[in-house]
Amino acid sequence: MSLSTQSEAPETTARQWSPRVSAALLGRLAARAAAAAATKTIAVEAPFTGEVLGQVPHGTPADVAAACATAREAQQEWAQRSFAERAAVMLRFHDLVIDNAAEILDIIQLESGKARRHAFEEVLDVAIQARYYAHTAAAFLEPRRRQGALPVLTKAWEYHHPRGVIGIISPWNYPLTLAVGDAVPALMAGNGVVVKPDALTPFSALWAAGLLEEAGLPRGLLQVVTGRGAELGKPLVDGADYLLFTGSTATGRKVAALAAERLKDSSMELGGKNALLVLPDASLRRAVPGAVRGITSNSGQLCISIERVYVHAAVYDVFAARLAESLRAVRLGPSLTFVEDMGSLVGADQLAKVEGHVADAVGKGAVVLAGGGARPDLGPYFVEPTLLAGVSDDMDLCRAETFGPVAAIYRCDSVQEMVDRANDSSYGLNASIWTRDTRFGRELATRVEAGTVNINEAYSATWASASPMGGFKESGLGRRHGSQGIVKFNEAQTVAVERLMAIDTPPFLSHQQYATVMSAAMKLLKYAAPLIK
Ligand code: NAD
Repeated sequence: MSLSTQSEAPETTARQWSPRVSAALLGRLAARAAAAAATKTIAVEAPFTGEVLGQVPHGTPADVAAACATAREAQQEWAQRSFAERAAVMLRFHDLVIDNAAEILDIIQLESGKARRHAFEEVLDVAIQARYYAHTAAAFLEPRRRQGALPVLTKAWEYHHPRGVIGIISPWNYPLTLAVGDAVPALMAGNGVVVKPDALTPFSALWAAGLLEEAGLPRGLLQVVTGRGAELGKPLVDGADYLLFTGSTATGRKVAALAAERLKDSSMELGGKNALLVLPDASLRRAVPGAVRGITSNSGQLCISIERVYVHAAVYDVFAARLAESLRAVRLGPSLTFVEDMGSLVGADQLAKVEGHVADAVGKGAVVLAGGGARPDLGPYFVEPTLLAGVSDDMDLCRAETFGPVAAIYRCDSVQEMVDRANDSSYGLNASIWTRDTRFGRELATRVEAGTVNINEAYSATWASASPMGGFKESGLGRRHGSQGIVKFNEAQTVAVERLMAIDTPPFLSHQQYATVMSAAMKLLKYAAPLIK
């Protein structure tokens, strides 16, 4: 283990957390927070050991208001820049993220406790977002001709204007991706951004803010306010022109209500209880490791991870046995290397929730097929990947999001039963289908109530910059990625020029005659309109 514990190395201001991350670096990152009014600090824990990693300002509502004002001022000039100029900044940011990956991987791991391979997904994601929107923003947002009210006589254009300041509230589970990945399209659309990362994991967002400035982003355009969501959420909704929230469904409801009261638009990326379906013809050689990845990625603290596994009776016994065996073989540990398959949970609350769900299920009769316990020998918040059979509706684990490496496995007698049970959830974020018949798999996918459905993959195939990502039902409102992931950060405006005559009864016709002529014209336009663009 490359981290030393408190007893081996008492906390000092000169603490070197890794070859690349020192207490001094974390102090410099904390100083980037917009925090002129803050008088207190918040301790950030390193989940691998439970030690205090560093301190960040306990931001106040006044800090949020000031950050919004600063971002708004910087946005005036940024909005005047061409898409090509904004893209140049994003492409430099892309390179800087990749060139400095080792440092941010350490920071992500230190503040979230995740395995390095899962932290690397964040590095890739943010770089891909920067590249994608650098190359596509203009195509999505440049002014374009539209058909006006009267064919030929009306010339119309669609314009997109930046909203101003976008507020982003992000959770702790993907502290780089979810704080910064959505900031990229918001910035490319000409906005300023104020990010409020989770208090558990503020350093990744602060690091990225510094790198964006190094890449050429105007100072002040992207602000990070560190602090507690319950205190800073309302002032951010007040100060921003649009709110993008990623987090639990319970908090999302509150934030969406605040935004709605102020008639501000928002998007909500919320929780999930995602199902994986193993059809009788699935390749178990692929499906078993796919399910392991779906259950254990980021220690199951992933909104699109797998918590329900529905297996056709024809392959249930073999699949369940192999899945349990593979989960038992997952390598857990706290190192800052790529050796481990899975890291720690983020902290004590998450551990209590995961242990509570497992204890409740086992107490009510569920059977543990793999794992089931904590691993305090590795660190305070490590838990084993866990598979449970015999899970019933009266158990917390059955319907509530656990957000840990814990899944329930169910035997199903038909494919229809698998789809019905997958859809029997208030959530609808992600699903995964395993079958050799991918044509049938695609048809089946359209019957699954989830914003993304991966065939022969657990969650990654649909997480792509060009494809919309978001939730059905209580898993969210709106989409990130693709055109929907950037157009929402603009106000659309239609401008039309009317030629030759007003859209009204011409002077040489009575209103009655005008109505007759227009009714006849409508019949013709039914055929002609598709030809007029
Ligand atoms: P959370 O809702 O507790 O916190 C998320 C963010 O909201 C944090 O920054 C927090 O400080 C802030 N917050 C808390 N109370 C607030 C309030 N009253 N007003 C405004 N902001 C407030 O969620 P969490 O436990 O940190 O994150 C895990 C949840 O996020 C899971 O449910 C997971 O599925 C979901 N999630 C969804 C996606 C997605 O893309 N759909 C991605 C990641 C996580």
